Amino acid sequence: MKRRKFLKGTGIVLGATAIGGLAGLNVINSKISENLDSSLLLKESNKWSNWSGGQVCEPSSFFIPKNEQDLINKLKTTSNKFRVVGGGHSFSPVVPTNDILSSLKNLNKIISIDKNAKEVTVQSGIPLSDLTPQLHKNGLAFLNQGDIDKQTLGGAVSTSTHGTGKDLQSFAGFVKKFKLIIANGEILNCSSEENSEIFYGGTVALGSLGIVTEYTVQLTDTYKLEEKVYPADLNETLDNFWNLVEENRNFEIFPFFYSDQVVVKTLNKTSKNITKVEQPFLSDDFLLALGLTLSGDSGSRTDKVQNLISGLIDSTSKINDSYKIYPSVRNVKFNEMEYQIPKEKGIACVREILKTGQKLKVPIFFPLEIRVVKQDDFWMSPFYKRDVMSISVHQFADKEYNKYFPIFHEIFKRYEGRPHWGKLSYYDREGIKKLYPKYDDFVKLRNELDPKKRFSNDYINKIFG
Ligand SMILES: Cc1cc2nc3c(=O)[nH]c(=O)nc-3n(C[C@H](O)[C@H](O)[C@H](O)COP(=O)(O)OP(=O)(O)OC[C@H]3O[C@@H](n4cnc5c(N)ncnc54)[C@H](O)[C@@H]3O)c2cc1C
Repeated sequence: MKRRKFLKGTGIVLGATAIGGLAGLNVINSKISENLDSSLLLKESNKWSNWSGGQVCEPSSFFIPKNEQDLINKLKTTSNKFRVVGGGHSFSPVVPTNDILSSLKNLNKIISIDKNAKEVTVQSGIPLSDLTPQLHKNGLAFLNQGDIDKQTLGGAVSTSTHGTGKDLQSFAGFVKKFKLIIANGEILNCSSEENSEIFYGGTVALGSLGIVTEYTVQLTDTYKLEEKVYPADLNETLDNFWNLVEENRNFEIFPFFYSDQVVVKTLNKTSKNITKVEQPFLSDDFLLALGLTLSGDSGSRTDKVQNLISGLIDSTSKINDSYKIYPSVRNVKFNEMEYQIPKEKGIACVREILKTGQKLKVPIFFPLEIRVVKQDDFWMSPFYKRDVMSISVHQFADKEYNKYFPIFHEIFKRYEGRPHWGKLSYYDREGIKKLYPKYDDFVKLRNELDPKKRFSNDYINKIFG
């Protein structure tokens, strides 16, 4: 680490101690060390909570099928409402139910691998972090991944979870076939050739058409990525954004509300040797925890602290297999909203979000996250026939977001932003219908496949009726 940064870092850590802030950090660190079960079923209290703690429910019962037949039997012998939870990493209320909540944690096996076609057929309940090392051993990898790999494949596909890259689609875009169990327990095999309406309508459907037990997914040969993270001037980076997107396989930026600096992250394929992982002196997680502590309970010092801490970001680089490079460690809990904006309107939207946040003096220490995603053909995908810029706003999990997120929502709405289904947003049914050309077809399909709305909850009813 450079001497200048070390001195600056030491000064800030000492400053934090002086304010009594590091006592707060201990609390945060104990939260960090919580090792949550991937199904997040809080059995002792009979309650379920999502990753951030922002969504909680008390289901009438939990059901963890041993296998696919067990699931089918349950659907055939009950008439209850039924929600499926994957890794519980959605911020939006897609999971909560007061009826049956089911985890597919036992449906976690690879069924077959076709090395020639570079395809895997795999059960939907497998966490991505369990799947990717097994794919790697077989010489295969996902074309792209998001920021973490704790999601299940079913959850990632059903919400159109994505990474960044102008030529790269979301997880839904990799799906070739899936097996859907509908409300009466019937199995439907869906692909672009078989049950094609259900394939295009049901790939991104938040579990509202039925439960997917298996996916066949397009992969690629294993590859290595070189990651570079560096600070840059915010305005210059925004002006040059689309050139940088063109020049890099995966490109994203993290602008702060109160800093002229932006953090840039690029990933590019490489044949160079794997490097020893170089940890920055102050990790992302440490800086976030420090920011939370120093900003004060009300967040009143956020602007000064953010300006100071954004200056501490180190330039780092590392090379590793793709599946080890994509996921970051995200231990500091937060809530998040994210909207997909038509690419040509993206930069204007980012500038307006930043300007509005500054004007309102929002106590949000977290940077925005700006990515790009290639369009797909899935009816309810936020990327349906639209290349987008993806813009996220975060807030620490124990800080208020409801005062500010709705204000940003109004801006995103003016820019025709489609919400990330797994993240917070504020649209009602009419708002969603305007954004999705195939909305009516989707609702019709849902009425056909699930006439009694077994797979609904309050949120699903709010957006799909
Ligand atoms: C720290 C963190 C980082 C994140 N990073 C990213 C990112 O980089 N990119 C991004 O796009 N998103 C990101 N997300 C959001 C996350 O990827 C999505 O919310 C994703 O859906 C979570 O997957 P899950 O397995 O936890 O699903 P859950 O949240 O448990 O469920 C999501 C939805 O999928 C449905 N579902 C799950 N399994 C099935 C199934 N087998 N059949 C039918 N429906 C099913 C559920 O009913 C629910 O409606 C992040 C979230 C967190 C907490």
